[in-house]
Amino acid sequence: MSNVIDGRASAAGWQTEIAGEVADLRERSGITPGLRVIIVGNDPASRSYVRRKSRVAGEVGIDGQLVELDENVTTDELLTVISGFNEDAAVHGILVQLPLPPHVDEVRVLRTIAPEKDVDGFHPVNVGGLFSARDPMDGTRLLPCTPLGCMRLIDETLGVDSLSGKEAVVIGRSNIVGKPMAALLLGANCSVSQIHSRTVDPAARCRDADIVIAAVGRPGLVDGDWIKPGAAVIDVGINRVQTPDGGKRLVGDVDFDAVAGVAGAITPVPGGVGPMTVAGLMFNTLTAARATLQSPESS
Ligand code: NAP
Repeated sequence: MSNVIDGRASAAGWQTEIAGEVADLRERSGITPGLRVIIVGNDPASRSYVRRKSRVAGEVGIDGQLVELDENVTTDELLTVISGFNEDAAVHGILVQLPLPPHVDEVRVLRTIAPEKDVDGFHPVNVGGLFSARDPMDGTRLLPCTPLGCMRLIDETLGVDSLSGKEAVVIGRSNIVGKPMAALLLGANCSVSQIHSRTVDPAARCRDADIVIAAVGRPGLVDGDWIKPGAAVIDVGINRVQTPDGGKRLVGDVDFDAVAGVAGAITPVPGGVGPMTVAGLMFNTLTAARATLQSPESS
């Protein structure tokens, strides 16, 4: 049986560290990191995610306020809200929960968030910083929260220094998870392959990998015979599936029972990557608040 990586425990440990650093920042500089989490509409899953983000912010001493906007808000109205937070010195981090309703121009929205307050790491300036950095994990930049959380889990499980020269496969190429994940693993000196819906024989490619990251959105896609014995498997997927009794439950992109007998280490769903994503957001908000101490306008 694999080592089952406890994301809840790792996230709790990370949050305790962050809470200490938030308190230290406040004591040294009087700054309380401020986060605004903007949600448009009433999607129940998105609402539950943003409530969790705001709650955890409070737990670590961040002023994390939820901003709830009507489903019919226009792109221009949303941009006005963001611009207000860009100008507000008490706000260090701005997150717009995705997906947005189809009538809202997501590209304009993400480009309007000031790069130094972009705690999701989706602004082109931050994306460019990630892809051009020799060591993107040097602690100076705002990185997408889920890949950041995955790297922390990998570090705690394998040690980031042990990644050098390893074969990594990332399944999925989204801007939110797959692409930044591959960039972080490359920065840690892995040889990285990226798999997507057009890849021929993804199982064969995975079988060569020491580390497999699944970020697809297909329940149980990764089977036991995709995995090299002893490999580390990080399951980012969150899929709501029907149970035989008509209920719902969350499963990942990895068939946990099949892979747990083969992998050296595996994250469960739920309780794996999810809590680390939220902790990563807190880390980014702290990083953004700290950066204002070094910026010209604060001196
Ligand atoms: P996405 O934007 O839909 O991207 C999915 C990727 O999977 C695409 O690149 C797609 O390829 C690829 N794909 C689809 N079917 C495939 C197949 N059969 N074989 C190989 N690749 C395939 O999804 P996302 O936003 O990256 O999210 C992925 C999953 O992670 C979802 O379940 C999401 O809910 C979850 N998620 C979890 C967290 C967390 O905190 N745990 C955070 C974010 C997302 P193409 O590009 O060719 O279409």
